[in-house]
Amino acid sequence: MTVRLFNTLGRKKEELKPLEPRKVRIYSCGPTVYRYVHIGNLRTFMFADLLCRSLEYLGYDVTQVMNITDVGHLVDDSLDRGEDKMLVAARLENKSPEEIATAYTQAFLDDAAKVNIRRASRYPKATEFIPQMIAIIEALIEKGHAYEVDGTVYYDISSFPTYGHLSRNTTDQLLSGVRGEVDPRKRHPGDFTLWKSAGEHRLQVWESPWGPGFPGWHIECSAMSIALLGDRFDIHTGGSDNVFPHHEAEIAQSEAYTGHQVVGLWMHADHLLLSGTRMAKSSGNFFRITELEAQGFDPLAFRFLALQAKYRTKLNFSAEGIAGANHALRQLRARLSEWSSGRDGDRRDFDQRFRNAIADDLDLPAAMALVAELTRSDVAPGAKAALLRDWDRVLGLDLDQAPVEGTLPAGAAELLEARRSAREAKDFAASDRLRSELEQLGVMVTDTPGGQRWRVA
Ligand code: AMP
Ligand code: ZN
Repeated sequence: MTVRLFNTLGRKKEELKPLEPRKVRIYSCGPTVYRYVHIGNLRTFMFADLLCRSLEYLGYDVTQVMNITDVGHLVDDSLDRGEDKMLVAARLENKSPEEIATAYTQAFLDDAAKVNIRRASRYPKATEFIPQMIAIIEALIEKGHAYEVDGTVYYDISSFPTYGHLSRNTTDQLLSGVRGEVDPRKRHPGDFTLWKSAGEHRLQVWESPWGPGFPGWHIECSAMSIALLGDRFDIHTGGSDNVFPHHEAEIAQSEAYTGHQVVGLWMHADHLLLSGTRMAKSSGNFFRITELEAQGFDPLAFRFLALQAKYRTKLNFSAEGIAGANHALRQLRARLSEWSSGRDGDRRDFDQRFRNAIADDLDLPAAMALVAELTRSDVAPGAKAALLRDWDRVLGLDLDQAPVEGTLPAGAAELLEARRSAREAKDFAASDRLRSELEQLGVMVTDTPGGQRWRVA
């Protein structure tokens, strides 16, 4: 069966033709670990997870590498300015950058697990690939694609004629997009930094042929993808804001370095919005998955919600939306548990249609429509249950989970949130006290690796 995926480069669906038959190698841009991920970030990571799960369901063997950015992402990265985000967080929290990275990497993995994002094959850290980055930068200078000024190395975008193709930016647009003061050492205002001179920085600084400094954000992904997946691999994923400058820069670096195309297909997920604007930490309009959980929603209700929209469209998050998804998810689990003991029967062409949907550029809304159609159909109950269990390998909704009964009584959501914070702060006395308070309200709490779970007695 042919799998067709939308390639951002060229803006059309293309047939997936893996370099090795039945094997797909994927690189996914991961989090910058200076803060918690919000549900917008999770939507993008969930898209990559759905891609891997879908390809596996269709019989491919998938290797996915996701980087952990623990250096080099500047506060003002589109303009190559500002302080490193890791250093800002370290200062604010009075910790070392390493402590910040360790804590938020763990928090990211925990939050991702709550929405059933499966583990990638590897999570390389940028700070562990500095020698590989330096080697690429040296080669780029040698080939005339980069130049050094005062210990900082810039990529010369005029040396790479297709710069701008991925994002469909022309050089003029790139120029007019540059606001404010331009670094006078750049030959072209659109040139980006490969290596930054340490300057005042004392932390996260490495020796290099250009003196002490630290890498730019974009070079990390070229170095880690090539080091771990080879100089040609099948798919690269990210969020739509990664198209420019991050992935545009990555293409310029990797292709100038290797002398050929490196990535087969570029795929990008569009944003999660809150009240019509992009969910973003900087503007303060965001939720963490733990906050939804503390409000009494199953974290997988967020996954259910995300499955209703095509990954390439924006999705607006709303209280009604998550409540509706939570309800629908519970209902589906309840139905599945009823059907499980029913008689088996003909599954008709349902599974083929499910496969067609996911093979058509991950059309999960169509797959979810099929779930609804199957539910209403007169297919035998045992066959319905079997199909839903199979499909759940892609959907990841824990449909087999015993259905929870009841809704939270008044005040319980606040207690659950307080207990979650207490556990995060390792205040186990408070967490035990809150557990008994919840019990008195009839809410039974258990602790799982994915966080606390509750049910109403
Ligand atoms: P960051 O840690 O800031 O590099 O972001 C991690 C990933 O989340 C990136 O791939 C972004 O494209 C993506 N992202 C950021 N904001 C949103 C949003 N509101 N909706 C969906 N994805 C997002
Ligand atoms: Zn990246």
